[in-house]
Amino acid sequence: MNPLLSLAGQRAVVTGVAGFIGSHLAAALIRAGAAVIGIDRRSPHHDHAAATNLAALLDAPNFTYVTADLRTEPLDQHVRDVDVVYHLAAIPGVRPSWGTRFEDYTACNILATQRIMHAATQLRVPRVVVASSSSVYGSTDGSPSRESDPPRPSSPYGVTKLAAEQLCLAHAARGDSPTTAVALRYFSVYGPRQRPDMFIQRALTATLTGRPLLLFGHGHRRRDFTFVDDVVAATIAAGAARTPSTVLNVGAGVGASLRNVLDIIHQLVDRPTPVEVVSDHAGDVDATLADTTSAQHLLNWHPTVTLTEGITQQLRSLDPTVSILTTNNNTSLAPFTQPAI
Ligand code: NAD
Repeated sequence: MNPLLSLAGQRAVVTGVAGFIGSHLAAALIRAGAAVIGIDRRSPHHDHAAATNLAALLDAPNFTYVTADLRTEPLDQHVRDVDVVYHLAAIPGVRPSWGTRFEDYTACNILATQRIMHAATQLRVPRVVVASSSSVYGSTDGSPSRESDPPRPSSPYGVTKLAAEQLCLAHAARGDSPTTAVALRYFSVYGPRQRPDMFIQRALTATLTGRPLLLFGHGHRRRDFTFVDDVVAATIAAGAARTPSTVLNVGAGVGASLRNVLDIIHQLVDRPTPVEVVSDHAGDVDATLADTTSAQHLLNWHPTVTLTEGITQQLRSLDPTVSILTTNNNTSLAPFTQPAI
């Protein structure tokens, strides 16, 4: 994030704040001077991942935590007098969305978004930023996806994310709407505290523990891996920018295969990741890659963290004592420390 950006006086709501990206976003907002109300249905007292994600936030000045389910919680009280709602709460993940949990996906990803937009427009919140996903594009030929490309999600999860972003835009497009909406299509976000089901976290855990990594599709799939700090910077910029309602890609703009990630890890720790190749999963597309021209232009935002730098940070957050070799001169790096709020 632009270190000079001051959000002093901004009142923000972050939904999904006990999650991976939401917790990083809330911390960055507070560091920039905003007051944040964080909402999530996970309680740090009963959920270990939520407790870890919220550890630096709960005692922070200007942070209020609300344990609530967005499917049912009366929302007016939380969005009254708020400048920006950052709506990140959702059930993520392509693979489980095929199964019996789909009802959960529709309720948490679509119904909850409808409730957020209803409350935000009723209470005249000027801006809603909603987390969408590269999964709305579905299968591509590997060339960069543009926002104007026809969305063809190839998983139930992708369908719910497309519905959520379009719901926000539909509310914002009403003639009498006081609220504008920016939907950000995030591409494969990684970094410290990444969800345990995601590839880089699984690969690093396998490397550190020696337990095999389940590698789907032989590892030739390509992803536009995007470091969480870059995603947070784009999200905050979307809250502050004076752009009308729109959809924007948020990606590093660089493709790498899962095998490339394993090579980087191997170089960093000088040991291979144990791997067990398993068959493909429905809905996993071959490649994702973002065209970020619009976000760079409208938000004055540029991704800054390379895949090697980002993986290094994530590795050190998992094991601060691990000996990491730099790719240039094989010297060890200093231990990781979490930025203070
Ligand atoms: P996460 O699972 O870590 O965080 C999501 C949070 O939303 C969780 O803490 C969960 O408890 C909360 N939540 C879900 N339903 C809720 C409800 N009904 N009421 C209250 N809270 C609820 O996921 P994440 O990886 O941090 O993803 C954040 C957002 O970004 C999601 O909208 C996801 O679809 C989107 N996204 C993520 C990625 C990625 O690579 N992580 C990529 C594209 C889009």
